[in-house]
Formats: sequence, C-alpha cells, structure tokens
Amino acid sequence: MISVFGSANMDLVAYTARAPRRGETVAGRAFATIPGGKGANQATAAARAGADVAFFGAVGDDAFGPVMRRGLESAGVDVRGLRTVPGSSGIAQIVVDDDGSNSIIVIPGANGSVTGASAEDLEVIGRSDALLLQLELPIAAVVATARAARAPVVLTPSPVRELPRELLDAVALIVPNEHEARAITGRADPEEALDALLERVPEAVVTLGSEGALYGSRGGERLRVPAVPVRAVDTTAAGDTFVGALCVARAEGRSNAEALRFAATAAALSVQREGASTSMPTRAEIDAALTT
Ligand code: ATP
Repeated sequence: MISVFGSANMDLVAYTARAPRRGETVAGRAFATIPGGKGANQATAAARAGADVAFFGAVGDDAFGPVMRRGLESAGVDVRGLRTVPGSSGIAQIVVDDDGSNSIIVIPGANGSVTGASAEDLEVIGRSDALLLQLELPIAAVVATARAARAPVVLTPSPVRELPRELLDAVALIVPNEHEARAITGRADPEEALDALLERVPEAVVTLGSEGALYGSRGGERLRVPAVPVRAVDTTAAGDTFVGALCVARAEGRSNAEALRFAATAAALSVQREGASTSMPTRAEIDAALTT
C-alpha cells in the first residue's frame, strides 16, 4: 500500500493564442477545470498504476472540494484522510499559450490549513510500503509527518526550497528533477548532483525530462534509465506520474532497474496526453506499453 500526504488543487486552465499583458484582455480558445496538485496527482498516478493508495490532505467547502474528492475516489484512492475545511480549495490558475508555455498562480487555500498527519493517519501510514511527500503543504506539516511516519519517506522536493535537516534525516528516497537537484546541491551536472544528494539521503533519483533519469544509492548502485521516445504533447505531471509508478513497482518488490523502467514507461504515456490527473495511465496501459 502507498500513502500520500500532500496537496490537492483545482487547475483552472485557460488556453489562448498568447497570454494577456498587464491591463489587457485577450480572447481565449478553451477552458478546462482539471483536478491537480502534486499530492493528489501522485496518489492518482499510484492508484492507476495498480496500488492500494490512501490520500491525506484537505479541500475547501467550495464547489471544487467535492469534485476533487470524487476524482480521487474514481481513481480508486482511499480519501478517508481527506478533510473538508471552511473556505476555498487550493487553486492553480493556469494560462497556456499556443507555444505551450504557461504562467501559473497558485493559491494554497485549504492546503495551507494542513498542520500534520493525525494519529489515525499515522496508523494507516505505518502500514504502508511508502509515504509520498511533496512541498506544496506548509513545511512544518511536511516535516512533522515525515518525522512521525513509520514508513519509508519518498520526497519530491517541489516547489523547490531550502530543505530543513530534520526533513532530510527522515527521507529514504528523494526524487528531484534536474533543476531542483541543482538548486538543492549547487551542482549543475546531474551526476555530481546525485552524488551530493547521496551525502544527505540513502537513495536518490534525478529526473531529466526527455533524457530519462539517474538513480543512485549510498550502497553504490548507479543506474541510468533512458526516457521512452515519444511525441510529447503536454509534460504536466510527468514527474508525479513517474514517482507514483516508481513507488508502486518498488512496493511490488521489483528491482530498481525494473521499477525505473516501469516509471519511465508510465511517464512517457502521460506526456502524450493533456492535463495532470487526466493524463495518467492505467496499469493495463503501462503493462501493454512495456511489452511492445
Ligand atoms: P513535471 O514538472 O512536468 O511534472 P518534472 O520536471 O518533475 O515533470 P521530468 O524530469 O520533466 O520531471 O520528467 C519525469 C520523467 O518523465 C522523466 O524522467 C521521463 O522518464 C519522463 N518524461 C518527461 N518528459 C518526457 C518526454 N518528452 N518524453 C518521454 N518521457 C518523458
């Protein structure tokens, strides 16, 4: 089983030829409301990839809260640990222009009210193969939950920020992208960044977008996993799909090489579709892609 303690946002996405300048109004082409947030994305990715998943976080008592709850439920995620709190849900207002570039305003809303996992949450987390954390909740809540968890902690350090030592001391596996790895370690070279990460945590994966990913452990294992060559239409949540699938495969006892290939295959499927939760592949799709 996989536990995820993290954010749930509603992505409000406006598609337009070009983003408006300050004070300007432009005509948009299309609009979509897509459940997102790194926590909910990783929970959805892991559930679609075939695991039992429990999600812990908060949504608001606005119109978006029930939509996000149902979205997670329909992916098969156990949402008994998802609280409804007074006020707005977490929102990401996104403008995507025809170049595929985007500008985003994130409003934490209910995510900002999360203080830490409850005793009941920690009991469920303690029965899990992994606890997935990201940095979209208040850092004090993330640190407290990581320290209290009796399960291996997998940290996606995004959005990147300074990492408290007490958090890193509780992390079993860290999975930054190359930009986050550089910001954390000060090393531009991904191999050097990986080595620097392993001075702080036992295992690390640095994801490199269409270049694949690097894995290392303090025990000396090193792996390079190529990305699956595909035509990407939207890379939103590629990283979350990768982490979710990686943890599912590891929980099933697969070798690191196999688990990384499973994760790269799931992420490659997700970049061929638009959106966050809408793009994540099912277990059947991942297995089919692995055999071709
Ligand atoms: P995002 O922020 O978009 O969710 P990220 O920056 O956290 O993603 P990336 O390093 O971009 O993470 O991608 C994660 C993994 O997804 C990569 O290691 C790779 O396996 C896969 N991936 C990403 N982009 C592509 C692509 N264009 N083609 C194939 N696979 C890709």
